[in-house]
Amino acid sequence: MDFLLTMDTEWDRHPTKDGRVTVENLSSLPLFHALCVSEGIRPCYLCAQEAADAPAFAPLGERVVTRNEGEIGTHLHPMTSPPYWVDPVEERKKIPFPNEYPLDIFEAKLAHLRQTLEARFGPQHTYRAGRFGLAPEHVPILVRHGFRADSSITPGVSWSHANGLSEAVGPDYRDHDAHPFWWDTGNEGGSRLLELPITIVRRGPRLIDALRRWTAGRRPGPPTPDEVLWLRPMPGRLHELRTVMHIARRQGIRVLNFMMHSNELHPGCNPYFDTSEKVEGLLAGLRSFFRNLSRSGVRSLTPREYTEQNAGTVVRTRPAVSSAWAECRGNAGCNTLTAGGTTA
Ligand SMILES: [Zn+2]
Repeated sequence: MDFLLTMDTEWDRHPTKDGRVTVENLSSLPLFHALCVSEGIRPCYLCAQEAADAPAFAPLGERVVTRNEGEIGTHLHPMTSPPYWVDPVEERKKIPFPNEYPLDIFEAKLAHLRQTLEARFGPQHTYRAGRFGLAPEHVPILVRHGFRADSSITPGVSWSHANGLSEAVGPDYRDHDAHPFWWDTGNEGGSRLLELPITIVRRGPRLIDALRRWTAGRRPGPPTPDEVLWLRPMPGRLHELRTVMHIARRQGIRVLNFMMHSNELHPGCNPYFDTSEKVEGLLAGLRSFFRNLSRSGVRSLTPREYTEQNAGTVVRTRPAVSSAWAECRGNAGCNTLTAGGTTA
């Protein structure tokens, strides 16, 4: 089993009243990175524009690249990457989903961020949409811009209730599982995009619910929010990381994709680890989890390394553009992801 650590490297969570974003949290990253290096973990820092531009991040980013201690990837939050579609202050207040934007604006924002990161840290390979807002139509654009891996899908989770610039515009990933797959871009023999979903597993319905379904002759439906477990750290629940790993192993998932946010390492910049004691507990819990991975024979790779090592493997493919979803784009009332067409 392989292990990816993907970190959204970004703002301090809340814009100031005049729409500025701050990146105080990035000062906590070197301590976290030293922990990763000492435990043999190869993190991928997925950078939003504000991190790509931040002098505070540059030394760490350069170290990661020159010493080959991980990967620097791309995390597009459209509210902080130009060109701005509406008033930037308004965009930052609403924290839009990338899938809300016309494709030409999305591509221009992606190009700006990619070029910033490439100028500072070299070619970009791995992408994650801000707020997990991937649209199937983004896939050919990502491939065109050199990306070979995406990590935007949150299996079993729907964001369709969430508001961005418009109401209820997030994607719905309840029909996905945590296995990687190649997006089918129809580009036979050409470049492809490997989807590396965040590892989110189903805890399994409570026995009583399963019995009710069975007696009613109903097949299991999509998981409810309390039936899914994320491979991401939450205060007081760090022990669940091992549970997720064991469930994933039982389900035959060959790669774990652990996600977190850079601001979770800095008290006052996130809602979960809001005190120094909680952050210290987080770092101690992560050290223990990383050591458990190592003892279990789990290998840490960057998404780039994982993609290159699995380039020849046959895994499931999905069409890059779902006609059902394409019809929905721009219509706030229609937000169901209907990828369909899965082939073995
Ligand atoms: Zn983010």
